[in-house]
Amino acid sequence: MSLNSQIEWTDATWNPVRGCTKISPGCKHCYAETFAERFRGVKGHPYEHGFDLRLVPKKLTEPFSWRSPKLVFVNSMSDLFQDGVSDSYIEAVCRVMFEARWHTFQVLTKRSARLRELLSGRLRFAAQQQHIWWGVSVEDRKYGLPRIGDLQRAPARVRFLSIEPLLEDLGEIDLSGISWAIVGGESGPGARPMLPEWGTSIRDQCRESRVPFFFKQWGGVRKAKNGRLLDGRTHDAYPQRVTAPVPEKSKCTVLAQQVLASFQEMVQVRSLVQVAT
Ligand code: SF4
Repeated sequence: MSLNSQIEWTDATWNPVRGCTKISPGCKHCYAETFAERFRGVKGHPYEHGFDLRLVPKKLTEPFSWRSPKLVFVNSMSDLFQDGVSDSYIEAVCRVMFEARWHTFQVLTKRSARLRELLSGRLRFAAQQQHIWWGVSVEDRKYGLPRIGDLQRAPARVRFLSIEPLLEDLGEIDLSGISWAIVGGESGPGARPMLPEWGTSIRDQCRESRVPFFFKQWGGVRKAKNGRLLDGRTHDAYPQRVTAPVPEKSKCTVLAQQVLASFQEMVQVRSLVQVAT
């Protein structure tokens, strides 16, 4: 976990899953992969196994240990809804978010079909929370726009779009039911350019539909130099956040233990059911 994330739209990152596989053009220069692969083979390092998928159960209850409310990007180094992560494990992550309601969680995925399916069933309890924001990545029309449709069909209370890296003009977007849009260009070596009119078109559509708009960055090879002004100003709007004080440490410890115990029980019951059938 990083408490001082460099990502402009969050405070902290929480990674109970590490590693991922690429599924669409937005993944081409995945920053998480580049970071993780740097440490492949380094004994004892969290990314000793590079970007290979790893569940990290010891990180599950980490949000209960933070002593101030945070805006938390969940799985900044992975994708919670990828195939290799079981429904039980995803539910455990959601139980933590559900209980640690003094934080605000931002869950972002490219696996929008599974997000829709689970939020419509097993994860409905988490879908309808004001402090858990559910988002999809949108990089282009072919792969990105259908994800918006999945998100709109999911019974989420707060839905957001991470339109980054923006790779082409998206045209007219259906923003119904969307609570937040983030736009950004790609950064780092080999970054694909973003044209200004692609960004301003989305900003104008958000303005018209009263969707809070956040312009993250232009990106490019030298991201800091290119800055984050769009049409001469920053755009830093967020959806409405609910705030609550952090409970006493002892209460947080009890909540963490309860979530872990119910996860262990759930895994045991399911394995018994599997053996019996
Ligand atoms: S889905 Fe996200 S974390 Fe996974 S490879 Fe693509 S960009 Fe990286």
